[in-house]
Amino acid sequence: MRTDIDVVVIGGGQAGLATAYFLRRAGLDYFVLDDQSAPGGAWRHTWNSLHLFSPAQWSSLPGWQMPVSHDTYPSRNEVIDYLARYEDRYHFPVRRPVHVKSVSRVQDGLLVTAAHEEWLARAVVSATGTWSAPYVPDYPGRENFGGRQMHSAQYRNPDDLRGQNVLVVGGGNSGAQILAEVSTVCNATWVTLQEPVFLPDDVDGRVLFERATAKWQALRDGRTIMAPVGGLGDIVMVAPVREARARGVLHAMRPFSHFDADGVVWSDGTHSRVDVVIWCTGFRPALKHLDPLQICDANGLPRTDGTRASDEERLWFVGYGEWCGAASATLIGVMRSARDAAGDIAQYLRAIQPRSTSAP
Ligand code: FAD
Repeated sequence: MRTDIDVVVIGGGQAGLATAYFLRRAGLDYFVLDDQSAPGGAWRHTWNSLHLFSPAQWSSLPGWQMPVSHDTYPSRNEVIDYLARYEDRYHFPVRRPVHVKSVSRVQDGLLVTAAHEEWLARAVVSATGTWSAPYVPDYPGRENFGGRQMHSAQYRNPDDLRGQNVLVVGGGNSGAQILAEVSTVCNATWVTLQEPVFLPDDVDGRVLFERATAKWQALRDGRTIMAPVGGLGDIVMVAPVREARARGVLHAMRPFSHFDADGVVWSDGTHSRVDVVIWCTGFRPALKHLDPLQICDANGLPRTDGTRASDEERLWFVGYGEWCGAASATLIGVMRSARDAAGDIAQYLRAIQPRSTSAP
């Protein structure tokens, strides 16, 4: 079955919903396709103890502030609940579970294809996030390692790691927080490429957002600014990480030289037995559905002009990371990208088809 529509948003996480908010305000004909069974996007898949690193009022989507939590920093369950209620509040037309297999060019637009249905869209917003594309670096001998390996995308809690030798690999916030948690029940070793960068204790996610904003404003105004200390990847000293530091376990080692069957060999030739490796090595944008468009470079990234694809005028990106908008991967930061994308789309549709837009 094929349906015609002005805009299809692929992905119903925070980025897809923020985009829906502005498309709705612009009076556009749109819907959102999401392959999860319920609202929440990536937050449904994070580890159980994860809390935001900014307070609720600094973690809100456009139009409705996240309710204040009894903790300063809302839990992942509170974020999931907020996203579900946000979706309800504005009656966004979200269809689930619908997995988009491909987006391809046809004469009058972009053809969005799922298992049993397809849509002809005049514009497409890709907001598929990153959690479904975990990245694991290629360490020598990894294929010979007989222990268990998981990515932070699969980690939920430390219960089944009790008493084991666990290697946590990765120097960002996921690595620090998972190291902090697993080290309470097992013999944990933390491996990072460089010495991790810890933010001061009194700095939280708000500062990271302010820094991203300063950079965005400078770029927009054609100014250069001294790069502020700290980026979105630097480690926020949330309570469990501070507690790990107090226990004396917040130390990272530089990478080992290779895996063997039951552990790793370090550069000085010593061997450590390892039962489990947790890869906290990040994610790549989940853009497989865009393969037919052939717009991604060797690093898997499309060229963009703001939020719009440079090589496909009917395609926009929201969420993901800095490449499609400063702080676009955060709850508060995504508003800017979503507003820009929806504004651009409204303008584009007016130009090609005047009747498709109406006043808000
Ligand atoms: P997602 O939430 O991943 O949503 C994308 C949706 O699209 C998903 O439902 C996915 O299943 C669906 N999808 C994917 N492919 C398809 C397809 N082909 N067809 C249909 N649907 C598809 N952010 C903050 O704002 N504040 C914080 O304090 C914060 N702390 C964090 C701490 C850690 C340790 C980590 C790892 C992340 C943190 N984040 C934080 C970031 C945040 O979790 C993610 O960046 C955010 O969830 C991304 O939102 P999104 O909507 O872009 O993607």
